[in-house]
Amino acid sequence: MPEGQEIALGSQAYHETISNEPASKNTRLSNLVNRVGQRIAAVSGRNDYQWEFRLISSPTQNAFCLPGGKVAIYEGILPVCEDEAGLAVVMSHEIAHALARHGGERMSQNLAVDGVKMMAEKLTGDYAARKKQILMEAYRVGSKYGVLLPYSRKQESEADHIGLTLMAKAGYDPAAAPSFWTRFGSLAKGQQMPEFMSTHPADQRRANDLMALMEEANVLYAQAKEKHNRGESLLTSA
Ligand SMILES: [Zn+2]
Repeated sequence: MPEGQEIALGSQAYHETISNEPASKNTRLSNLVNRVGQRIAAVSGRNDYQWEFRLISSPTQNAFCLPGGKVAIYEGILPVCEDEAGLAVVMSHEIAHALARHGGERMSQNLAVDGVKMMAEKLTGDYAARKKQILMEAYRVGSKYGVLLPYSRKQESEADHIGLTLMAKAGYDPAAAPSFWTRFGSLAKGQQMPEFMSTHPADQRRANDLMALMEEANVLYAQAKEKHNRGESLLTSA
């Protein structure tokens, strides 16, 4: 699928999602999400994207970025992030999946599997709707749209690496990344598994791999125009 078409579908899918899920009423946190997003977007190399950042009013612990820079963060994941730098870990990781077009490959596979079915649907005019649904599934948007499959281990490692680079360039302390994943991993015990974790196994290997990249990330962080360190806390609700 050509990138332009992927971006058009991403935009359509994003607007459908936000029209079904209310925006957060917390102005401080919505502004904070927008601020972190804008800083990451500024170092992403994709000034051509129509970036949008939305905080959704929901206890769901999830986040996603659709092709073209459409980012949604669910309120439920903010306490796990603890501070702006923790939020930058999640946002830069999801943005990295979109920049690397990780959903595209899965989408192509799903489209091929569904080829025969879609030929039939095309005749009944459901082709575009099904294609959009597959894109949403490929980028792990909302469980109601289908079974959320994790990205491959290789794609996860790549998104961790790109994400770490982005957050460091955006001026957030990259040390927040391994500590986020360690903290996130310890959440699983005895609770319902958060949506984000069901697709992101937060094991020690992930944290170790990030630790190994820290020297490189610290060089980028040292070169960042502005440093925000850990930023504002997300543990106060006001
Ligand atoms: Zn991921």
